[in-house]
Amino acid sequence: MTETVTRTTCPYCGVGCGVLATRQADGTVRVAGDPSHPANFGRLCSKGSALAETLSLDGRLLHPEIGGRRASWDMALDVVARRLAETVAQHGPDSVALYGSGQLLTEDYYVANKLMKGFIGTANIDTNSRLCMASSVAGHRRGFGSDTVPGCYEDLELADLVVLVGSNLAWCHPVLFQRLEAARAERPSLRIVTIDPRRTATSEIADLHLDLRPDGDVALFAGLLRYLAEAGRLDEAYLSRHTNGAEAALAAASACDIATVAAAAGLAAADVGRFYELFARTEKVVTVYSQGVNQSVCGTDKVNAILNVHLATGRIGRPGMGPFSVTGQPNAMGGREVGGMANMLAAHMDLDNPVHRDIVQAVWAAPRLAARPGLKAVDLFEAIHAGRIKAVWIMGTNPVDSLPNADRVAEALSRCPFVVVSDVIRATDTARHAHVLLPAAAWGEKEGTVTNSERRISRQRAFLPLPGEARPDWAILSAVARRMGHAAGFAYDGPAAIFSEHARLSGTGNHGSRDFDISAHAGISAEAYDSLAPFLWPQPAETTSVPAQGGRLFANGGFFTSDGRARLVAVTPPVPAVVGAGRLILNTGRIRDQWHTMTRTGRTGRLFAHIAEPFAEIHPDDAQARGIAAADLVVLDNAQGEAVLRAVVTDRVRPGEVFAPMHWTGQFSARSRIDVLVSAATDPQSGQPGLKRSTVGLRRL
Ligand code: SF4
Repeated sequence: MTETVTRTTCPYCGVGCGVLATRQADGTVRVAGDPSHPANFGRLCSKGSALAETLSLDGRLLHPEIGGRRASWDMALDVVARRLAETVAQHGPDSVALYGSGQLLTEDYYVANKLMKGFIGTANIDTNSRLCMASSVAGHRRGFGSDTVPGCYEDLELADLVVLVGSNLAWCHPVLFQRLEAARAERPSLRIVTIDPRRTATSEIADLHLDLRPDGDVALFAGLLRYLAEAGRLDEAYLSRHTNGAEAALAAASACDIATVAAAAGLAAADVGRFYELFARTEKVVTVYSQGVNQSVCGTDKVNAILNVHLATGRIGRPGMGPFSVTGQPNAMGGREVGGMANMLAAHMDLDNPVHRDIVQAVWAAPRLAARPGLKAVDLFEAIHAGRIKAVWIMGTNPVDSLPNADRVAEALSRCPFVVVSDVIRATDTARHAHVLLPAAAWGEKEGTVTNSERRISRQRAFLPLPGEARPDWAILSAVARRMGHAAGFAYDGPAAIFSEHARLSGTGNHGSRDFDISAHAGISAEAYDSLAPFLWPQPAETTSVPAQGGRLFANGGFFTSDGRARLVAVTPPVPAVVGAGRLILNTGRIRDQWHTMTRTGRTGRLFAHIAEPFAEIHPDDAQARGIAAADLVVLDNAQGEAVLRAVVTDRVRPGEVFAPMHWTGQFSARSRIDVLVSAATDPQSGQPGLKRSTVGLRRL
């Protein structure tokens, strides 16, 4: 056997790094960064570098199972198709649901969305992207008329000021952080401000760190808008030519003077003033935001407060300028593009727009297009708990550990008459509730595309054979659809055919064909798909090169609203939550070397060398008040349950707040599942849960 090198994409975070996977003569795999990929230029982080160590088949689900017993594919697919059809016949289309994942490839997402919304006739398809970027989606749509990221990674290197809001970029998007660090080393005048309740590895390189109160961001950016107006720093020409809503947004911000903002956000007025002054006098500003903004009950308002200051100063879509949402997952953007969420249709079209519905219905020849938005993730599992949803198909995600109020999710699944789980791992906490288990292809075994945070579409390519009887998700979905009587709509012979259809749909005229247009690739051959190089969307049919403005959007307006103008949104800072005596605010998040519920990264000991066990960061004042010393075992608890963690006593967190990682599951540490404690309250606009602001008690074990 000779060595073969496959160009593919990392399956972890939204940076979307290119990877070279080399199958060596002895059958083992070596992984390196792809020097030609424009996201990473050869760099990889600790997780990406360890990918080859995570490829073992230990614990893999290799055969279909029904009721815990091995079954043939024919039997399993027959059961799934029959039970879904029976449930629809008896209880209507909205009695079934599908819950997917940002780990799915765009082609998988496309087929899942088509089956549910076009052929079963329900929009009850949501994904773990709801936990990740839903507030950015909602904020983009309110501000720009579409879910579009205006800039690209290069902007972080070209900026004179990078503001990182609710983003521990150093741990959660490490290669993008490396690019920022390198830019700063080359150009020391580049200023960095971090805004986060915690001091993190990212804030170590900041010129200014604002450790604001949780959800203080709305007040902070509303106050910035007011400050910019008073300082005469608004771009009146841009505002009048390309936006609406400035007057109302400024009126809403009028109460946010520096003293009021400082009090609301728990910051020193001098620090607030320093940030405002720096932002006002620097033209090239990029504001990067991530889960600290999104995972909040006011996440959409936070996003729009950030968009407002960029729109008001015209700092958008130009080199080194713009608001920049960095997505958590490898394909959260691809899922959004094909409408893989309960409130979207496909190709960024809207379920409640009759023109869009007609376009999608015609392209799909859909017999039963969903008539209204479906249930978003938290509500979807609540409907399962209440018995309104009677059959659910869960693909590539582990909601029993990752959704808020996780034990209630487990209870919901234990009550559900029919649960199908497609996964690569056999014994996840979610798979235990499955009536039917379907073995899915894993990274390195499947073919498709993903879209990263800068709207760059890259191929994931297979370099390993399918193990056991595993199949790609798109093939499993199509086989079920055909058994449900929809052979013509699901006769795909491979992912290229799906991508081609998706590209054709994207160019059918929604929002003037620029919102999500990759129609240059409609009709793509299998060979051309196989060799597809990374490219940015939109990429309309008339061009196969990078779009104008180096992939940037909106410098000259052209928003995807009906009048082509952006909207500044009037936002009102939330009233600070009252936490009971002796209670703490629980913040959750990622650590550097683990990914989600550790089904892949937990396979190599090397990735436990950085942090080996679940922990709680506790401020020294709170530790002392409870007699807690460093490395003690502590219990966090609330009415939903409890979790046992190792105490890390540190002033990186604010007094009255505690941070814990999200990764540990029943598989690794049954008593440390943090999402048991997390509140299921959601943002009213986006349906995204506020995963970073629950209330807990704390004691020594
Ligand atoms: Fe993978 Fe993200 Fe690391 Fe890049 S930065 S190697 S995409 S985990």
